Amino acid sequence: MISALQHYIFCPRQCALIHIDDVWQENLFTVRGELLHEKVDTDSYETRGDLKTVRGLRIHSFKYGLVGRCDVVEFKQTSKGKEIFPVEFKAGQPKEDISDKVQLCAQVFCLEEMLNTQINKASFFYGKIRRRDVIQIDDQLRTQTEEVINKVRSLISEKRIPIIEYSAKCRNCSLIKVCQPKALNKKKLGNYIKQLYSL
Ligand code: SF4
Repeated sequence: MISALQHYIFCPRQCALIHIDDVWQENLFTVRGELLHEKVDTDSYETRGDLKTVRGLRIHSFKYGLVGRCDVVEFKQTSKGKEIFPVEFKAGQPKEDISDKVQLCAQVFCLEEMLNTQINKASFFYGKIRRRDVIQIDDQLRTQTEEVINKVRSLISEKRIPIIEYSAKCRNCSLIKVCQPKALNKKKLGNYIKQLYSL
């Protein structure tokens, strides 16, 4: 799933818990996101003049082994041909990491394969600041996205749950109670295992 790429960038352990162990817990951030997407992903479309807006479009890529859904895809007829423009809705504001951009780029990979086209731009709509940001789907972002896809594929195929120690981002993670990151101190775990086998 395309969402696995974002989970991996946020935390590889979170990605493994969700996509290998099937663990899911809600918190304020996940519920906010879900409420927004309930409004947006309505499996519908509308046409206004040259612009067709499709909501909740299901997408896939055989090349990259991806499935997902676009909040909105705009199809616009111009003098140069058809322009295809995905728009991803976010409840918050722009993130410092590349997770949202990688998600959007993965959507572009799917649309390019499904529609046999090239897409150079896509955008986010941020609910909190009510702003649309256009991003370039350039070579650097494409390479970064391919790298994340490869890392997620090997993580999932190895069925490995990595040990990640507690950090500031754990406070915002909905899986903190299941993950127990403060118990994952590698030194403490090493001592525990040593004690266990010396008994
Ligand atoms: S609690 Fe921290 S270490 Fe555990 S999955 Fe979440 S972000 Fe990762």
